Amino acid sequence: MEDKAIGKGNILETNVVDTLPAFPEAENPIEVYQSEEIVATHPAEPDLFARHDGVPAHDQKLLGEARIVLVGAGGLGGWAGVGLARSGAKSICVIDDDQVDRTNLSRQFFDSDDLGRLKGKALSRRLAGQAVGGAVVTGVGLRFEEALEAYPLPADIFVAGVDNNECRIQVVREARKRSIPAVFTMLSRDGMRCQAFLQSASRLEPCLWCALPNLDPEQVAPCASAIISSCLLASALTIFFTHRAIMGWGSIPFFNWREADLSGIAPDRTGVIKRRDDCPVCSTHKE
Ligand SMILES: [Zn+2]
Repeated sequence: MEDKAIGKGNILETNVVDTLPAFPEAENPIEVYQSEEIVATHPAEPDLFARHDGVPAHDQKLLGEARIVLVGAGGLGGWAGVGLARSGAKSICVIDDDQVDRTNLSRQFFDSDDLGRLKGKALSRRLAGQAVGGAVVTGVGLRFEEALEAYPLPADIFVAGVDNNECRIQVVREARKRSIPAVFTMLSRDGMRCQAFLQSASRLEPCLWCALPNLDPEQVAPCASAIISSCLLASALTIFFTHRAIMGWGSIPFFNWREADLSGIAPDRTGVIKRRDDCPVCSTHKE
């Protein structure tokens, strides 16, 4: 082992990954993990989530009861999942059919034990360990569309951190069909700028397509560049929107759009997107 680690480490690691079978776990696309709440060691110890007291509009019970379906387990969904699990979400389902590879490890919530595993399943195991309040975390190693066909996927909210418009639009439509909110996160091609949008449950409110009229469903545009800083920035906005969609806004003025730029070239933006009458999704839901 020691010999391998000296001088040739990188080459050997590359070879290991290249010899992995394509989908070693394809025979079983779903896994469920359960974790228990970290208990107090003394009755006088404060509650696990005591520091949430006083955070505007925070309602721990509502967060604990929400069934969150995370679509995408990579650089966006992974960290959003960590934030949601840590803050007290107790029911999380992770959907992603992609496979963990070496290039993911620089910014996604995986380590070497996950190499070759389906991301939905690998992340669900990791998130169970992050849920300090205890949680049931289900991992599905299928595409979103396939997962919808295979399982009922009970959900109170979808959280989509994916790299292609086809899947985003499927989430837009499925959320509308179920009358539940959905949060979307996007990164720019250079990985420096992120956008987050909260699509509310009401069909009278704008959908993602209203926010991004040029959303081409045919376009598959994986992030050419990505770095952990933008993933974490985007995830913070995603977690905030998810919390707000579940727990309400309280005294915080409502908005449904955020943009932030690590490079500082473009200004950060906070705004309220309006529904467009010519939106292909919303125009089919006139009420
Ligand atoms: Zn729309």
